[in-house]
Amino acid sequence: MNQNLSDKRFDGIKPFDHKIWLASPTMHGDEQKWVDEAIRTNWVSTVGANINEVERQVADYIGCNYAIGLSCGTAALHLAIRLAGEKLYGIPKVSHGSLEGHKVFASDMTFDATVNPITYEGGEPVFIDTERDTWNMDPIALEKAFEIYPDVKLIVVAHLYGTPGKIDEIREIADKHGALIIEDAAESMGATYKGQQTGTFGDYAVVSFNGNKIITGSSGGMLLCSDKADADKIRKWSTQSREAAPWYQHEELGYNYRMSNIIAGVVRGQIPYLDEHIAQKKAIYERYKDGLKDLPVSMNPFDAENSEPNCWLSCMMIDEDAMAPFVRGELDELWKSEAGKSSPGEILAALSAFNAEGRPIWKPMHMQPIYRSHGFVTANGNGRGQSNAYIAGSMTDVGADIFRRGLCLPSDNKMTVAEQNVTIDIIHRCFE
Ligand SMILES: *Cc1c(COP(=O)(O)O)cnc(C)c1O
Repeated sequence: MNQNLSDKRFDGIKPFDHKIWLASPTMHGDEQKWVDEAIRTNWVSTVGANINEVERQVADYIGCNYAIGLSCGTAALHLAIRLAGEKLYGIPKVSHGSLEGHKVFASDMTFDATVNPITYEGGEPVFIDTERDTWNMDPIALEKAFEIYPDVKLIVVAHLYGTPGKIDEIREIADKHGALIIEDAAESMGATYKGQQTGTFGDYAVVSFNGNKIITGSSGGMLLCSDKADADKIRKWSTQSREAAPWYQHEELGYNYRMSNIIAGVVRGQIPYLDEHIAQKKAIYERYKDGLKDLPVSMNPFDAENSEPNCWLSCMMIDEDAMAPFVRGELDELWKSEAGKSSPGEILAALSAFNAEGRPIWKPMHMQPIYRSHGFVTANGNGRGQSNAYIAGSMTDVGADIFRRGLCLPSDNKMTVAEQNVTIDIIHRCFE
């Protein structure tokens, strides 16, 4: 449904003359220099100074031993999950995935790239519900999941929207059950938990340089690890698993997942601006928090005592009693205006009508048609159940509730204060 611009509530607001993005790339100039240098010196393939530099700089920044440049975050997750699978269950037959026949616990409310690589490897993701304090994997639900599935040995956990999850508690539970952790820090690069960078808590971790992330290479990603043998294996797998022989000799399955030296040039130009981007995103978050404080809404929460989010995306959630009528089908939605109330559908439509880009919260994986037959564990120990029919007042399916009442706000670090103030004004008028 489209928002009607002649709606009296919006009188006096003009559409933005350019798109206000959710999160778009911000170039600074040095990217061009490093890309040009790669081309001038003819190091345009998957070897070169840019790759060496960005691997060193990211490892230094995050504080891990090895950072391996790959074509994207999803490829990094795939190799991390494959490596974990081989460590846990041995080297599979060549036509089989390393997780064949095994369940893996995964964040539920996240981008599907977090969990799809489990499936690439023949594993079966079982989704762990979300907690309300940071909108990440709920340690209580995770503990319940181990009661239901005691044999699980791998956990894939994301830090959503740049907010660190309860990674200490998750680590403790993992250790108790002898499970490995893969940490998806694709959205949280530069965020810290108890003073330590996200990406250093997992046995393996991943960052992404996708176009809308906190820094970008236009594409690209990295796998982070502490062990040299693991790092060597990942480099080898990512370049088609060639053995040291005069010809193409293969003993292991290979992938074409290595980062190009041109992409690495863009990343190299961006790394010096990571802290600046984070500061801009934090300012955006704080301005929304202040500007929306008189409305019946809350911002995406974080643990202020123990964590420093990178504030990649600012999000808000509407109080239950301020939700106007709003229903979502599988591919469409309907909403209705009501005085003093609003809905994510209405607010996203209004933003769009004025040329600003918001986005629904990541639709939880247990609600996705492709994963609907998979296990889903909530904090009260339920398996499947409430997901397809959320009942107001029954707060067991946290992910479904945040998806229903929440939305991502325009969080582009090039948005001006004036533009953000108009955005905040539009949201206010949705509640008139
Ligand atoms: C972006 C993202 C990825 C994937 O990274 P790509 O570089 O786009 O492949 C994985 N997980 C999460 C949570 C992401 O947001």
